[in-house]
Amino acid sequence: TYFILLLVTITRLIYTVGKTEQWKAPILPDLDIENISHQLHDDPEAIQMASRDYGHIVHELPAAVFHPSSIDDIATLIKSSYNSFAPFHIAARGQGHSTHGQAMARDGVVVNMATLRKQRNGVAISVSKDPLLGHYADVGGEQLWIDVLHASLEHGLAPVSWTDYLYLTVGGTLSNAGISGQSFRYGPQISNVHEMDVITGKGEFVTCSKQRNLELFNAVLGGLGQFGVIARARIALEAAPKRVKWVRLLYSDFSAFTKDQERLISINGRKQKNALDFLEGMLLMNQGPINNWRSSFFPLSDHPTIASLITQHTILYCLEVAKYYDDQTEKNVAKEMQVLLQGLAYIPGFYYEKNVSYVEFLNRVRSGELKLQSQGLWEVPHPWLNLFIPKSQILDFNSGVFKDIILKRNISSGPVLVYPMNRNKWDDRMSASIPDEDVFYTVGFLHSSGFDSWKAYDAQNREILEFCSDAGIKVKLYLPNHSTQEEWTNHFGPKWMKFLERKLQFDPRMILSPGHKIFHKQL
Ligand code: FAD
Repeated sequence: TYFILLLVTITRLIYTVGKTEQWKAPILPDLDIENISHQLHDDPEAIQMASRDYGHIVHELPAAVFHPSSIDDIATLIKSSYNSFAPFHIAARGQGHSTHGQAMARDGVVVNMATLRKQRNGVAISVSKDPLLGHYADVGGEQLWIDVLHASLEHGLAPVSWTDYLYLTVGGTLSNAGISGQSFRYGPQISNVHEMDVITGKGEFVTCSKQRNLELFNAVLGGLGQFGVIARARIALEAAPKRVKWVRLLYSDFSAFTKDQERLISINGRKQKNALDFLEGMLLMNQGPINNWRSSFFPLSDHPTIASLITQHTILYCLEVAKYYDDQTEKNVAKEMQVLLQGLAYIPGFYYEKNVSYVEFLNRVRSGELKLQSQGLWEVPHPWLNLFIPKSQILDFNSGVFKDIILKRNISSGPVLVYPMNRNKWDDRMSASIPDEDVFYTVGFLHSSGFDSWKAYDAQNREILEFCSDAGIKVKLYLPNHSTQEEWTNHFGPKWMKFLERKLQFDPRMILSPGHKIFHKQL
C-alpha cells in the first residue's frame, strides 16, 4: 500500500510540476482545537480510501481523513477551516459511490460519514407523526437508504421515492436528486424531504425547511454538497405495501416504446388508484447479457428466443413497470395491471411477470452486487454517463446514439436505462438542474470496464455528448462531472447566478465539496 501511495504521489508530483503549478505537499490542517485533532487520520489506509470512489477513474489525495463521532465534530472542523488564515477544503464522503471524484478533496480533509454511521449505530433513524405532515422519518445524513427502509418498515411505513440501489447515503443522494422508477409519480427523493439540519460552509448549524430558511433548504437539495453538510433529513413516509407485481415487456420499436412509457406516466396522481408505482426501461443488445447485475428476470428457457429477437432487431427496448399491493388484493392488482397495460404496443407474447415482496423489489440490485463482489468485479472502473434528455428530442437521441454510436463502437457492456419523468414533480427552486420540458427522459449508461479499458468508454461518452451538442439536443448531466466554469455555467443555465449567490451566502470561502470542480477560486 505504501508503495502504491508513494508511486501515486511521485506520479502526481511529476504531472503537477509538468503543468508548472506550484506543488504543495499534503499538510495536515493545523487544527488548534484539541478535542478533534486526534480524529484526523493520514495513515495510508485512510488516505487511500478517501482518494478512491466507485468510478475508479479519478484519484485525489487528501491531506487527511476526518472521523467524526458527532455532528458537532463536523461543525467544529468546518468552523476551524472557515476561521483560519489558511483554510482547507472539506468534502463529506457518503459511501463514495460517485464515479468522478465528487466526494474527494485534494490536499483537503475528507469527512468519512461512515464513521459517524458506525458511532451512531442505528440511533439516527426515528419515525414520528405530525398532524400536518403525516408520518416521517428523521434520518442522519450519513445513513444508508437500506437502513431507512428497515427502520420505517418496523412501523409499517416506508419512503415513497427511491434509488435503484439502496446502499447509498441519504446525504449523498439528496445532494444529487435521487431518482428511480417511482420519480414519475412521487418526484425524486429531494421532492420528499420536509426539513433538514445542515452545517453550512461557515460551520453554522441551521435547521431549514419550506417554512424556515427556505433559501438554504432549496440550495442544499440537489446542491452537490456545495452549501453544507446534511446532518439530518426529515423524509416523508407512507403506509408500506407488502408485495409488488413486477412486469417487463419487450419492444422492437423505440417510438412505440416511448409512446407507451409516456402514456403510462401521464397517470401520476399520488393518491390515484389506477396509477403504476414504478416505471423504468432499458436496452437489450448483443453487447451485454440478457440478465444483468441490476436484476435477473427473464427465464433461462427464453434466453435463446430473446437473443434471436435482438439479433433480428439489433436493439430491444424493455419496459419495466410495477404495481404495489397487499396480500388480500393480489387478484385485484392483476386486473388493475391488465387495464393499465391494455393496448400497449409491445411484441405480442413478450410479457414477463413476477410477484415479489416489497423489500425484495426495492433491494433488487443487491444480489447482483454481491455476486459481482464475489467475482472481484464490483471494484472496477465505472465510466458512467447519466443524462436528462427533453422528451421532444428522445427519438433523435435514439437514432444518433443508441442506433449509431453505441452499435458502431460495439463496446457497451453495462445496463443502459431509459425512462421518462414528469417535470411538475420536481421543485425548480431547488439546485438540481433538469431540462425545460414537461416530460424528460433519464438515460443511464452504467458501464463497468477493465482498469486498462475505461478510456474507450470515456471516449464513447464524449462522442455522445458531442453528438448531442452538434444535434442541438439539450441534455443535462445527472450526477454531473464537468470540469470547466463554462460547462458548469451551461449546466445550471438560468439557475447559475442563483447557485453562485447561494455559494457566496452559505460557503463564501468555497470550502465544501471541491471534487466537483465548480469553483476554482483560491480559499
Ligand atoms: P458520495 O458519492 O460519497 O457523495 C456524493 C456527493 O454528495 C459528494 O459531493 C459529497 O461531498 C456529497 N455528500 C455526501 N454526503 C453528504 C452529506 N451528508 N451532506 C452533504 N453532502 C454530502 N443515483 C440515483 O439517483 N438513482 C439510482 O438509481 C442510483 N443507483 C446507483 C447504483 C449504484 C450501484 C451506484 C454506485 C450509484 C447509484 N446512484 C444512483 C448514484 C448515487 O446517487 C450517487 O453516487 C450519490 O453520490 C450517492 O452516493 P454516496 O452516498 O456514496 O455519496
